[in-house]
Amino acid sequence: MATCATQISTDPVQQLLETVSLYLHIPFCHTRCHYCDFNTYAGILPLREPYVQALQIEVERAGKLAQRPDGTPRRARTIFFGGGTPSLLSSIQTTRLLHACRSAFAIDQEAEITLEANPGTLTIEHLIGLRTAGINRLSIGAQSFDAALLKTLGRIHSPGEICQAVSAARSAGFTSINLDFMFGLPGQTMQHWRETLDQALALRPEHLSLYSLIIEEGTPFYTWTQQGIIAPGDEDLCADMYEYADERLQAAGYENYEISNWALPGHQCRHNLTYWHNLPYLGMGAGAHSSFAGRRFSNVLAPLAYIRLLRARQSPEAESETVDHAQEMTETAFLELRTAMGIHLPSFEQRFSQSFAQFVGDRLHTVEAAGLLEQTQEWLRLSKRGRLLGNEVFLRLLPN
Ligand code: SF4
Repeated sequence: MATCATQISTDPVQQLLETVSLYLHIPFCHTRCHYCDFNTYAGILPLREPYVQALQIEVERAGKLAQRPDGTPRRARTIFFGGGTPSLLSSIQTTRLLHACRSAFAIDQEAEITLEANPGTLTIEHLIGLRTAGINRLSIGAQSFDAALLKTLGRIHSPGEICQAVSAARSAGFTSINLDFMFGLPGQTMQHWRETLDQALALRPEHLSLYSLIIEEGTPFYTWTQQGIIAPGDEDLCADMYEYADERLQAAGYENYEISNWALPGHQCRHNLTYWHNLPYLGMGAGAHSSFAGRRFSNVLAPLAYIRLLRARQSPEAESETVDHAQEMTETAFLELRTAMGIHLPSFEQRFSQSFAQFVGDRLHTVEAAGLLEQTQEWLRLSKRGRLLGNEVFLRLLPN
């Protein structure tokens, strides 16, 4: 039977569609980084305990909402604690949240359970507590090995604390670690980037996420750019940095399985693959987004409002839209074409009862003839040239 993607699971696509991935948003940070526009807050650490209690209530509600027609709990394949800085919760609070998930959902024995953490917020005791609770993957926001660039970004940690965090995580028994880094930073040279990658690879993480800086409105970086205090990274230099990283990482045995993500064999992030294959997920916590049962919905942003609603046993949902069949097809194709593997054609047909060729019609031949796509018997993916043109290919290929 065809699978959606061997990297997610060996389950047939119809069975994957019956499962969910769970996301728990933890909106606390010690301070706000200068580039960050996530739904996260500094100065509200006393809200951690009431927030965890509210989240436990929402997990229970979500479990009921997602129950299977026969009243049994929905199967969940992955859990992701994101933020914010989830490592600012105690291991006891994290354990309670995982317990709530296990009570409300049928969590796979082999589920991938990730927690995002920041260097400087981790001790060996805390890490052992997280490992004991069932967290089996750690995603560490390292960002750079250059002390001056970390300061520019407004990060609270030093380069040395990245190494300490990884070493403590290894001692606590973590065998799956991701490190996040950023490029295209103000004042960052190719030499800085080479040195950061050298030091990152010396730690041999199982997974690396490399993001180019995007300057978002409303952040200090945006104001400083407007005022001419900082200048965003040069576009050509960014492209060179990306290309250099890809060559360096592939030579070190990492596969570039999605535009910004590289993994050693067997260590692709199954939770993120849920998003990239447009499979169902339930997001819980302030501002968290969900996609489930033909509907996309999100919660209120403010943690205090979120806590009040859950305490009053009311829904925290703030926005909702229905997703029709054609929209789901377009979005699935768009998301899968962003991955290195592309669209698994038999799975696409099995999922939507229509082949991809029928869905896009003549457009497929036009875009293929322009050398923007590569097709094997089972897979359709962007060619190297197609990846460079990105959005233009999607506009020319996909309906609506
Ligand atoms: S630690 Fe992460 S979530 Fe928190 S402010 Fe910095 S970038 Fe944003």
